[in-house]
Amino acid sequence: MSDERRADLGRRLTDVRARIAEACAAAGRDPAEVALLAVTKTVPPADVAALIDLGLDSFGENRAQEASAKVEEVAGLRPQARPHWHFVGNLQRNKARVVVPWVTRLETLDSARLANAVDAATRKAHDDGTRAEPVLPVLIQYSVDGDPARGGVADDGLLELASHVAGLPGLELRGLMAVAPLGSEPDRAFAAIAAAAARLRAEHPGARELSAGMSGDLDVAIRHGSTVVRVGTALVGERALTSR
Ligand SMILES: *Cc1c(COP(=O)(O)O)cnc(C)c1O
Repeated sequence: MSDERRADLGRRLTDVRARIAEACAAAGRDPAEVALLAVTKTVPPADVAALIDLGLDSFGENRAQEASAKVEEVAGLRPQARPHWHFVGNLQRNKARVVVPWVTRLETLDSARLANAVDAATRKAHDDGTRAEPVLPVLIQYSVDGDPARGGVADDGLLELASHVAGLPGLELRGLMAVAPLGSEPDRAFAAIAAAAARLRAEHPGARELSAGMSGDLDVAIRHGSTVVRVGTALVGERALTSR
């Protein structure tokens, strides 16, 4: 990795942290309430290692195979680090066993069938000794507009899925995740997301996390109560569109 790239990542991280701090100040919130998840899909392991050196500890990935290889390479580059890996992509049921050995949190749970597959894979991996933690923390992915293409469960299925997840011994329900639909008015979208998170929390008090906000809209998301912002482009630069 070039010194230039390293300096670039450092500058970008400083900028993102300043944006988070500013949005928190404007919303009267404590910046310690908002975690930064660096989305490192398509980013090479050396860049992740540099982000670890800069003090980041949580990374988001969206493809099971790519992420599994990267997790190993990063462990080789920074054997002392204990990074947290969040899965933020569409997970197919037959890929659950690929991610459970290393995933810290699954943010994209959106169906009872996926929940069953991930629950079973988590418990099996723990029994086999390939996963240290017996339980996998999860967020339910919420769909603001009910468009099935992007994934997520809509309003009518949210609480039903939540009680299903709460009944599975291998999963722990930690909260809600959402992506504001492209072209939507951000204030309205994040208000709807916050309302869904509040409904979830009313029935499941432990489900306190709200993963919402990306490079383009993290400021609005923080105003609406986000506790995790998932930032890719602003931290690592434009990704190659083909590998997105
Ligand atoms: C890629 C991605 C992000 C990061 O998006 P940026 O606009 O690059 O910050 C956040 N969340 C999810 C689910 C993603 O796939």
